Amino acid sequence: QDQPRVVLSARGLGRDFGGFTAVNDVDLDVRHGLIHALIGPNGAGKTTVFNLLTKFLQPTRGTITLLGTDITRMRPDRVARMGLVRSFQISAVFPHLTVLENLRVALQRPAGLAVQFWLPLSTLNRLNARAEALIDDLGLTAFRDTRAADLSYGRKRVLEIATTLALDPEVLLLDEPMAGMGGEDVQMVADIIRNVARDRAVLMVEHNLAVVEDICDEVTVLQRGKIIAHGDYATVSENPQVRTAYMGT
Ligand code: ADP
Repeated sequence: QDQPRVVLSARGLGRDFGGFTAVNDVDLDVRHGLIHALIGPNGAGKTTVFNLLTKFLQPTRGTITLLGTDITRMRPDRVARMGLVRSFQISAVFPHLTVLENLRVALQRPAGLAVQFWLPLSTLNRLNARAEALIDDLGLTAFRDTRAADLSYGRKRVLEIATTLALDPEVLLLDEPMAGMGGEDVQMVADIIRNVARDRAVLMVEHNLAVVEDICDEVTVLQRGKIIAHGDYATVSENPQVRTAYMGT
């Protein structure tokens, strides 16, 4: 069957810290239009994999390819400009600025315009239009002029995701996007992520398995730095190794 194209892939990815192997032999494909979950118990190596993919950490072994380009030796800022963006990288939300103002700042940043006081009217109009579009896409229309500090916890997270999208990433890496959230906010953010993934690829670390089951198309399970299962949620959750190792049943 026809699978959506792979935009980010890792082959034989590994990282040692001194004599300790934190990640070993990880193969991963992240596809356009799909949400891929990376799950596993604490210490499994999920954060290390994220750091390797974004090039915050240099891999000890293996290769990483982004949009057909080998990025294994590339610097993190170049990788980000190529379209691989992690949520916290630019998720600096300014509490005293409104939703719209935050997005305008986020949109100016990648264009290198942040330090300019004066912008050509055409540029301003373009930034404003992009900001308004992002606001509508992420269901923030009613909060356009609300200061970030006055948003609910869940909506603040949505604003963070929106500022990340200002870079128009091809691949979005989300590190526990539901952390610390109550049920209603979880549902809202889940819907937003689903929406966001329609025209880009999403790789997320998520502990909430109900969310993984609900919105993720593909799941990779790590244990002690190695992949122990991969597939859709139903397949992975029935894997005996996953059940004993991860779910404790
Ligand atoms: P997870 O995100 O799945 O909880 P991590 O990637 O944070 O797992 O950690 C995987 C393993 O690598 C853990 O045993 C952790 O202690 C170890 N580790 C992570 N970063 C470092 C480091 N900078 N130095 C030494 N050990 C590390």
